[in-house]
Amino acid sequence: MKNSFIERNRKLVNILIAIFIVFSLLSFLIITNIYSKLEKNNRDASISNLIYKIKSQIEYNHKIALEYSSSDEVYEFIENGNKDYIYKNFRQGSYTLEDLDLSYFILIDKKNNIKYSNFTRDINKEESANFSAFILEKLKDINKVNEVIIYNNQAYYIAKSPIYKTDYEDNSNGFLYLGSKIDNNVIKNLSKDFINIKFISNPKASIKKINSNNNEAGPVKIKVKSKIVNNININEISFYDYNSKILFTVKVKKEIHLLNDIKKFTIIIFLCLLIMTILSLLYISNKYTAQVKEQNESIDKIVKNKTSQMKVTIEDLKKTNKHLYEIAHTDYLTKTMNRRNFFIHAQINFTEAKKNNELLCVVMIDIDNFKKFNDKYGHNTGDRVLTLFADKIKQNISEKTILGRLGGEEFALVIKNTNLEDAIKKAEKLKKKIEDIELKVDDKILKITASFGVSDNQNCDNIDEMLQKADKLLYTAKESGRNLVRSRLNFC
Ligand code: GH3
Ligand code: MG
Ligand code: MG
Repeated sequence: MKNSFIERNRKLVNILIAIFIVFSLLSFLIITNIYSKLEKNNRDASISNLIYKIKSQIEYNHKIALEYSSSDEVYEFIENGNKDYIYKNFRQGSYTLEDLDLSYFILIDKKNNIKYSNFTRDINKEESANFSAFILEKLKDINKVNEVIIYNNQAYYIAKSPIYKTDYEDNSNGFLYLGSKIDNNVIKNLSKDFINIKFISNPKASIKKINSNNNEAGPVKIKVKSKIVNNININEISFYDYNSKILFTVKVKKEIHLLNDIKKFTIIIFLCLLIMTILSLLYISNKYTAQVKEQNESIDKIVKNKTSQMKVTIEDLKKTNKHLYEIAHTDYLTKTMNRRNFFIHAQINFTEAKKNNELLCVVMIDIDNFKKFNDKYGHNTGDRVLTLFADKIKQNISEKTILGRLGGEEFALVIKNTNLEDAIKKAEKLKKKIEDIELKVDDKILKITASFGVSDNQNCDNIDEMLQKADKLLYTAKESGRNLVRSRLNFC
């Protein structure tokens, strides 16, 4: 018998678990998707911020270049080499550049002669001379530059602007070059959102093909490549010039804390829910099993009680039936067969004997002068006489012999397989045994005798005939003085 709740509702439990798993997976996917998007938005915002700052830096260089190149002071300095201008503007030398967030500042005349140059302290003299020669050569045919260039695997912001007097823009007498080094530290300072920023300059990039008409600030194209390795988001932001030549790449890394934590959190939540669901199912199942067990036990108890009650009732009924049977078939006083029962058995024996051609004898017995026991000593004494009398007969007959009380103080025997002579002998023996009975009443000993009439089944067609013959013979015994046994042999 399937007692367990889970066994009985296997289908329902399977459906519930399937729904739970689908729900969990969907929820997990939705949550991680939402947080991935958030993470991506956050990352995109950081990258946009970085790009904006790089562009701003280019814009900044451009503005400074425009400002410095369009003053009468600079124009005059190129014209006549007025030292006052330098003294006034670059008294502090390279510190001035650092204050302006620049790495270099070069002024040239129309013939490409350097009129003034200044570099920050991290660029030595030889480097600065080579760098100056490089950019003057490469950009000599271009009037305006606002770009990123690569020199010796190092990227630089560069702005070139023609020098002219105020309101005389067509009449330039030289050029101003300025800009700053773009090293890892610079990039790092541009965005604090990334854990690691690596600046990769492209050695193949050159400024040779920079469009001379370019007046825009910054490189035109930016491509971002993203990938996630071991919960670290790696982005490569590549900057391209107008000819789609790669200038430099900024490799930035960012840890995906949030998404990772959310994933862990979601998995833990769903595991907890799963464990809770399983525990709840087990609890319900156990409770259900216990209830079914309890119910079964109480039903068993009721059935046992009812069964034992029924057993008792059946036993009582059997006893009652037996009792009723005894009452119906037994004489209440002497416990011998009653008249009706005796006649039934006697008839059966007679029929059997006749069928088997066997001998059968009947003895009628009547207590002599019984009435006087009643009259003299009371009815109870009479009953005691009857009881003693019947007991004495019972003790002295075989099991097969039938004894019955036909009424009053009259009894009868049916003796099977016995001829008349033997039956008479048995009657004589009984007569003597009855004579032995001594009944004590009021210090007196009373004696009992009885008269006998014996008949056999010779020339008899039924038991009644035999009993009538025996009764007649008994009557003759009474007439002849009582305490006698009479049979047809006495009259032959
Ligand atoms: P007899 O020798 O000729 O047989 O004389 P008797 O007195 O034995 O015969 P009788 O027929 O005159 O009397 C029988 C008496 O037995 C009458 C009746 O009151 C008494 N009797 C019958 N049944 C019972 C009984 O169950 N108990 C008692 N105490 N007496 C009974
Ligand atoms: Mg009598
Ligand atoms: Mg009588």
